Amino acid sequence: MGVRTADTSDKSQEKFLVKRCPECHINLPIEATRCYSCRTRVGDVDRHGKAKRKINWYSYLACIVSWGVLIFYIKWAFF
Ligand SMILES: [Zn+2]
Repeated sequence: MGVRTADTSDKSQEKFLVKRCPECHINLPIEATRCYSCRTRVGDVDRHGKAKRKINWYSYLACIVSWGVLIFYIKWAFF
């Protein structure tokens, strides 16, 4: 079995076997990257046993770009 011994580093972090989805609060396997119920991308477990929300960088970038285009258009159109 591939069970590793828990490394005892300085930060005595609690080990969780499951993490909770930030959206629908169901239990997910600790290695899960996506909730099988609501399809939310989930990150690592936090110290409350809840999965961290993963930022969708693509939509974030698309938002910035569309704002940039809008500002550029306003400048070009009115000045
Ligand atoms: Zn979920």
